[in-house]
Amino acid sequence: MIELRNLTKRYGDKTAVDELSLTLEPGTVTGFLGPNGAGKSTTMRLILGLDAPTSGTATIGGRRYADLRRPLRTIGALLDAKAVHPGRTGRDHLRAMARSQDLPARRVAEVLELTGMTAAARRRAGTYSLGMSQRLGIAGALLGDPRVLMLDEPVNGLDPDGVRWIRTLLRGLAAEGRTVFVSSHLMSEMEQTADRLIVLGRGRLVADEPMSALLTAG
Ligand code: ADP
Ligand code: ADP
Repeated sequence: MIELRNLTKRYGDKTAVDELSLTLEPGTVTGFLGPNGAGKSTTMRLILGLDAPTSGTATIGGRRYADLRRPLRTIGALLDAKAVHPGRTGRDHLRAMARSQDLPARRVAEVLELTGMTAAARRRAGTYSLGMSQRLGIAGALLGDPRVLMLDEPVNGLDPDGVRWIRTLLRGLAAEGRTVFVSSHLMSEMEQTADRLIVLGRGRLVADEPMSALLTAG
């Protein structure tokens, strides 16, 4: 569903993503693990076409993001939860997203319910805690009922209940046959969530293993 081929991004003489090749499968939660600065966010930005690769390609179902006819129905993403306009209510933010891509208005109520944000969505995003911003970001990612979910450090700022909630949500989405790609800098967050773990270090692929193999190894 997502395919990266020799994906490379350089900023000046800094190589953020270095010849990265991998394929992400439907029905699987793939964890994307690496320390801060490893290149996880850059990889996700390249997949979403928010940044152009220096070389290589990133495709979703065989197409580049820019060529998707209805992107929010294909891939939903949470990259930077704090990017929502602080003066807007959560509901207005989601309504604008829905309108811009002809998604049915009822989806806004549905994803607010799913993320536990129905009441909070009446308030301006500037008043949200980081955990609430993450939930709103996840609501936005779910809006188009997409085949692929891509979440960058979604657990940041969530309390233990929120962490368990995300884990259950992601497992459920994969069980429905969706492709789930989720980053973290903490192995402990991945153990009970991911089926497969991709480890990134300095922009390079360090490991790509089924979680079961990692948890039973040595
Ligand atoms: P991660 O998400 O794993 O923390 P990032 O993808 O944010 O890593 O960053 C990878 C590397 O690329 C870091 O060294 C970071 O400083 C650098 N980088 C990311 N974005 C830019 C940018 N716009 N300009 C220059 N360097 C950048
Ligand atoms: P603009 O309003 O500037 O045209 P976009 O409509 O491309 O920007 O994206 C608006 C916001 O939605 C951006 O913050 C972007 O990161 C985010 N975004 C883009 N594509 C997706 C997606 N498939 N799923 C979730 N969020 C997305």
